Amino acid sequence: MQELSEPTIRSSFVNCSKGEAKRLNLPNLNEVAWGNQVFLSWLDPKSPLKGCLVVEQDGVVQGVLLQKSKAQSKAAQMCQFCLTLHPGSGISLYTAARPGESGRRGNTIGTYLCANLACTDYVLGKKKPVGIRQMDETLSVEDRLLRTKNNALGFIERLKNES
Ligand SMILES: [Zn+2]
Repeated sequence: MQELSEPTIRSSFVNCSKGEAKRLNLPNLNEVAWGNQVFLSWLDPKSPLKGCLVVEQDGVVQGVLLQKSKAQSKAAQMCQFCLTLHPGSGISLYTAARPGESGRRGNTIGTYLCANLACTDYVLGKKKPVGIRQMDETLSVEDRLLRTKNNALGFIERLKNES
Protein backbone atom coordinates (compact mmCIF):
# COMPACT_ATOMS: atom_id res chain seq x y z
CA MET A 1 0.00 0.00 0.00
CA GLN A 2 1.05 3.60 -0.37
CA GLU A 3 2.48 5.41 2.62
CA LEU A 4 -0.14 7.25 4.70
CA SER A 5 0.43 10.29 6.87
CA GLU A 6 -0.74 10.56 10.46
CA PRO A 7 -3.44 13.19 9.64
CA THR A 8 -4.74 11.00 6.80
CA ILE A 9 -4.95 8.01 9.12
CA ARG A 10 -6.61 9.92 11.95
CA SER A 11 -9.22 11.45 9.67
CA SER A 12 -10.02 8.14 7.94
CA PHE A 13 -12.04 6.48 10.71
CA VAL A 14 -15.62 5.78 9.73
CA ASN A 15 -16.90 4.54 13.09
CA CYS A 16 -15.55 6.72 15.85
CA SER A 17 -15.61 10.37 16.82
CA LYS A 18 -12.90 12.82 15.75
CA GLY A 19 -11.84 13.07 19.40
CA GLU A 20 -11.47 9.31 19.70
CA ALA A 21 -9.48 9.15 16.46
CA LYS A 22 -7.21 11.91 17.75
CA ARG A 23 -6.46 9.98 20.94
CA LEU A 24 -5.56 6.69 19.24
CA ASN A 25 -1.96 5.62 19.65
CA LEU A 26 -0.50 5.00 16.21
CA PRO A 27 2.36 2.66 15.38
CA ASN A 28 5.67 4.25 14.41
CA LEU A 29 4.86 5.09 10.79
CA ASN A 30 8.56 5.28 9.89
CA GLU A 31 8.92 1.62 10.77
CA VAL A 32 5.97 0.36 8.75
CA ALA A 33 7.02 -1.71 5.71
CA TRP A 34 4.44 0.06 3.54
CA GLY A 35 5.26 -1.75 0.32
CA ASN A 36 4.37 -5.11 1.84
CA GLN A 37 1.18 -4.19 3.66
CA VAL A 38 -2.28 -5.00 2.32
CA PHE A 39 -3.67 -2.64 4.92
CA LEU A 40 -2.43 -0.93 8.05
CA SER A 41 -3.58 -2.74 11.17
CA TRP A 42 -2.41 -2.50 14.74
CA LEU A 43 -3.38 -2.86 18.36
CA ASP A 44 -3.23 0.32 20.40
CA PRO A 45 -0.07 -0.18 22.49
CA LYS A 46 -1.69 1.62 25.44
CA SER A 47 -5.09 -0.09 25.27
CA PRO A 48 -4.39 -3.54 23.82
CA LEU A 49 -8.07 -4.40 23.35
CA LYS A 50 -8.38 -1.55 20.87
CA GLY A 51 -7.55 -2.52 17.32
CA CYS A 52 -7.36 -0.39 14.19
CA LEU A 53 -7.67 -1.22 10.54
CA VAL A 54 -6.92 1.29 7.78
CA VAL A 55 -7.50 0.32 4.15
CA GLU A 56 -6.72 2.36 1.04
CA GLN A 57 -8.53 1.69 -2.20
CA ASP A 58 -8.43 3.95 -5.29
CA GLY A 59 -7.19 6.86 -3.20
CA VAL A 60 -9.95 6.51 -0.59
CA VAL A 61 -8.65 5.74 2.89
CA GLN A 62 -11.03 4.20 5.40
CA GLY A 63 -10.27 3.32 8.99
CA VAL A 64 -12.22 1.17 11.41
CA LEU A 65 -11.88 1.08 15.17
CA LEU A 66 -12.22 -2.47 16.47
CA GLN A 67 -12.80 -3.79 19.94
CA LYS A 68 -11.07 -7.06 20.76
CA SER A 69 -12.99 -9.54 22.89
CA LYS A 70 -11.19 -10.60 26.06
CA ALA A 71 -12.64 -14.09 25.87
CA GLN A 72 -10.41 -16.57 24.10
CA SER A 73 -11.93 -18.87 21.54
CA LYS A 74 -11.81 -22.52 22.59
CA ALA A 75 -11.98 -23.85 19.06
CA ALA A 76 -9.71 -23.19 16.11
CA GLN A 77 -11.05 -20.43 13.87
CA MET A 78 -10.19 -18.90 10.56
CA CYS A 79 -9.37 -15.22 10.18
CA GLN A 80 -12.12 -13.72 8.04
CA PHE A 81 -9.67 -11.39 6.27
CA CYS A 82 -6.61 -13.51 5.44
CA LEU A 83 -8.24 -16.96 5.92
CA THR A 84 -5.38 -18.15 8.13
CA LEU A 85 -6.49 -20.95 10.43
CA HIS A 86 -5.49 -20.34 14.04
CA PRO A 87 -5.76 -22.35 17.24
CA GLY A 88 -8.04 -20.64 19.77
CA SER A 89 -5.10 -18.71 21.23
CA GLY A 90 -4.29 -17.02 17.93
CA ILE A 91 -7.72 -15.76 16.95
CA SER A 92 -9.97 -13.13 18.49
CA LEU A 93 -13.49 -11.93 18.02
CA TYR A 94 -13.38 -8.28 17.02
CA THR A 95 -16.40 -6.03 17.00
CA ALA A 96 -16.82 -2.69 15.28
CA ALA A 97 -19.43 -0.08 16.13
CA ARG A 98 -21.56 0.99 13.19
CA PRO A 99 -20.96 4.54 11.97
CA GLY A 100 -23.00 7.38 13.46
CA GLU A 101 -26.11 7.18 15.57
CA SER A 102 -26.55 3.43 15.07
CA GLY A 103 -23.14 2.74 16.59
CA ARG A 104 -23.77 5.12 19.48
CA ARG A 105 -26.85 3.06 20.31
CA GLY A 106 -24.56 0.03 20.63
CA ASN A 107 -25.07 -1.49 17.20
CA THR A 108 -21.97 -3.47 16.21
CA ILE A 109 -20.84 -6.20 13.85
CA GLY A 110 -18.28 -8.81 14.76
CA THR A 111 -15.78 -10.95 12.95
CA TYR A 112 -12.98 -13.39 13.81
CA LEU A 113 -9.55 -12.03 12.94
CA CYS A 114 -5.91 -12.87 13.61
CA ALA A 115 -5.59 -11.92 17.31
CA ASN A 116 -2.54 -9.73 16.56
CA LEU A 117 -4.11 -8.27 13.38
CA ALA A 118 -0.94 -9.26 11.50
CA CYS A 119 -2.78 -10.67 8.46
CA THR A 120 -0.13 -9.47 6.00
CA ASP A 121 2.61 -11.35 7.85
CA TYR A 122 0.63 -14.59 7.76
CA VAL A 123 -0.09 -14.29 4.05
CA LEU A 124 3.59 -13.55 3.34
CA GLY A 125 4.61 -16.51 5.50
CA LYS A 126 6.56 -14.27 7.90
CA LYS A 127 4.42 -15.58 10.72
CA LYS A 128 2.90 -19.04 11.07
CA PRO A 129 0.35 -20.29 13.57
CA VAL A 130 1.89 -23.09 15.62
CA GLY A 131 0.40 -26.56 15.79
CA ILE A 132 -2.27 -26.24 13.15
CA ARG A 133 -2.43 -27.30 9.52
CA GLN A 134 -3.48 -24.71 6.94
CA MET A 135 -5.78 -25.37 4.00
CA ASP A 136 -3.95 -26.37 0.86
CA GLU A 137 -4.20 -23.39 -1.45
CA THR A 138 -3.25 -22.99 -5.06
CA LEU A 139 -3.60 -19.19 -5.10
CA SER A 140 -0.41 -17.16 -5.45
CA VAL A 141 0.69 -14.90 -2.60
CA GLU A 142 -0.33 -11.85 -4.68
CA ASP A 143 -3.84 -13.23 -5.11
CA ARG A 144 -4.08 -14.06 -1.43
CA LEU A 145 -2.98 -10.52 -0.51
CA LEU A 146 -5.65 -9.16 -2.85
CA ARG A 147 -8.27 -11.47 -1.37
CA THR A 148 -7.29 -10.34 2.14
CA LYS A 149 -7.73 -6.71 1.14
CA ASN A 150 -11.06 -7.40 -0.54
CA ASN A 151 -12.31 -9.20 2.56
CA ALA A 152 -11.36 -6.19 4.69
CA LEU A 153 -13.08 -3.82 2.24
CA GLY A 154 -16.15 -6.07 2.28
CA PHE A 155 -16.21 -5.87 6.06
CA ILE A 156 -16.10 -2.05 5.95
CA GLU A 157 -18.92 -1.99 3.37
CA ARG A 158 -21.00 -4.30 5.54
CA LEU A 159 -20.29 -2.11 8.56
CA LYS A 160 -21.46 1.01 6.73
CA ASN A 161 -24.41 -0.39 4.82
CA GLU A 162 -26.31 -2.95 6.83
CA SER A 163 -28.95 -1.60 9.13
ZN1 LIG B 1 -5.79 -12.51 9.43
